[in-house]
Amino acid sequence: MDASETISELLLAWYDRHARTLPWRIPPGSGETPDPYRIWLSEVMLQQTTTGAVAPYFRKFTERWPTVQALAAAPEEEVMAAWAGLGYYSRARNLIACAREVAAMGGFPDSEEALRQLPGLGAYTAAAVAAIGFGKRAVPVDANVERVVARLFAIGDPLPGARKPIRAHAGAITPDARAGDFAQAMMDLGAGVCTPRDPKCLLCPVNAHCIARKTGDPARFPVKAAKKAKPERSGTAFWIERNGAVWLVTRPGKGMLGGMRALPDDGWSARSDGSDETPIPGQWKAGGVVRHGFTHFNLTLGVAVYAGEAFDALGDGEWWPSDKLDEAGLPTLFAKAAALARSSL
Ligand code: SF4
Repeated sequence: MDASETISELLLAWYDRHARTLPWRIPPGSGETPDPYRIWLSEVMLQQTTTGAVAPYFRKFTERWPTVQALAAAPEEEVMAAWAGLGYYSRARNLIACAREVAAMGGFPDSEEALRQLPGLGAYTAAAVAAIGFGKRAVPVDANVERVVARLFAIGDPLPGARKPIRAHAGAITPDARAGDFAQAMMDLGAGVCTPRDPKCLLCPVNAHCIARKTGDPARFPVKAAKKAKPERSGTAFWIERNGAVWLVTRPGKGMLGGMRALPDDGWSARSDGSDETPIPGQWKAGGVVRHGFTHFNLTLGVAVYAGEAFDALGDGEWWPSDKLDEAGLPTLFAKAAALARSSL
């Protein structure tokens, strides 16, 4: 028996006893057949999002749309509104596109290569669905797996350059049988035992094979390249209320938060002339400031509240009852801005 067989066997035996209970997971040894739709949906939701945050959204989606055909038939704005609060909204747009493509094909393809062609399925998600949903030998490498493998083999190159050797080592320890359980065992080990700052090596089923542990400082791995500071942007969101209704717009298709309902805004630093132009002339007052971190920049968004008299048309948009705003599916940034505006009235 070589070391890689030992690592996979130890991990699978550990997973059989300690697998996390998650709403999308089939417990090891239950004999149930995984549903690729549920695996795909959970993996898309879990991109850059914690299991705790995803669980209620997963339940809500699978109760409302129990099959990929049901999701494919849903109106886009309903899916976008149900996604509100989960962030990274391009995932929701890809989710709808992918569901429609899969429904038209009659179901998910079972190979990693064919899954990779679907909208929103990168290398990781395609491998995860192939392994967990179809039991194929595939090697999904997420941040948890990356950390475990970098430590097991004490890979000293900094990320992202270390991804290639990490993938090669992850592939070498992946067994032919139970590849889905093995992938989930690695994810669980990374999430609960081989944690970023304080790995619990005494509880680890593969500690006898771990080279980083032998160095005495396993948390040093994976080595990270120095981070660049995110650029700062600023802008203004406008709360315009009339007769108990607030003016909402739908953001354009493919841009930031595209397709989501939102408060109108000034384009976030889009203006270079420094003007403080508002959508309508009149009495405006400051409603507060929201700070929000996007992937590529941080945003400081001031909230301007309209407190004037009647006014003319505002262009494309809709009046939404302000006491039913929680049904509008505003993304987190605009939900926070709306809460500030309302508390300032
Ligand atoms: Fe991670 Fe420690 Fe296990 Fe190594 S021994 S894989 S560092 S938990």
